[in-house]
Amino acid sequence: MDGRFPNHHPDPTVSDNMRDLVRAVTESGAELGIAFDGDADRIGVVDARGRIVWGDELLVIFGRDVLARNPGATIVSEVKCSQRLYDDLSRHGGHAIMWKAGHSLLKAKMRETGALLGGEMSGHIFFKERYFGYDDAIYAGARLLEIVARTGKTVDQLLADLPPAHTLPGCAQVQGGGACPRPFPGGGMRSDRRGRRARALPAGLGAAARFEHATRPGDALRGRDPRAARGIPAHRRAGGRGRPEGARRVTRDGRPRKRRRRLAPSGG
Ligand SMILES: [Zn+2]
Repeated sequence: MDGRFPNHHPDPTVSDNMRDLVRAVTESGAELGIAFDGDADRIGVVDARGRIVWGDELLVIFGRDVLARNPGATIVSEVKCSQRLYDDLSRHGGHAIMWKAGHSLLKAKMRETGALLGGEMSGHIFFKERYFGYDDAIYAGARLLEIVARTGKTVDQLLADLPPAHTLPGCAQVQGGGACPRPFPGGGMRSDRRGRRARALPAGLGAAARFEHATRPGDALRGRDPRAARGIPAHRRAGGRGRPEGARRVTRDGRPRKRRRRLAPSGG
């Protein structure tokens, strides 16, 4: 290995750095390709079709494997990983924890919770089951090969039932296919004009937002506030008489209400 990394920066989370590996895998007909970062604590994987397998997808594969032997095991990940990871781990009987990004923070949370597995979008994977609980990417690669060999399935076959997610540069994840509501400072529950709900999850380094679909403005509030359930608009419930400043007058299904035209006084 040339420690000056003359080919490109050794960061397997950057697609450009994976280009040579993708080409090598597809040209040689390999089943998968494995990349490491400069100090081999982060892993990057390419499947047989030349698609980059992101950190949350690797954690799905490793998590299902660990849970098969250890039902109910705790698995810690971080906010940049997609919601489908946490949903999948729960579906497979795991206790999935979304924690702050950063491998030292994650390791501390794993120790605190007695987790058997941890991992990040960045490719840091921590095995506590059958290993020491630190991020050894060469070992993670060996565990992946073990799973592929034992199941006889390729990486993309192992992930075939996982819903798709879109990964943006910098590992942000957008799911659900809808446009984002306007960003909101301070976190908490917000609802945009079309009634889509978003909740900012508490996180120290990073943030995740989960969007749910509601059919019309106010649906997000119904069921939480009995007066909202009776159809009393939020600004009235708050005690004010008029619309809140800057708010638009909308009909119940969210369309701007037409202003009623006053008849001009007829001249005498
Ligand atoms: Zn590293």
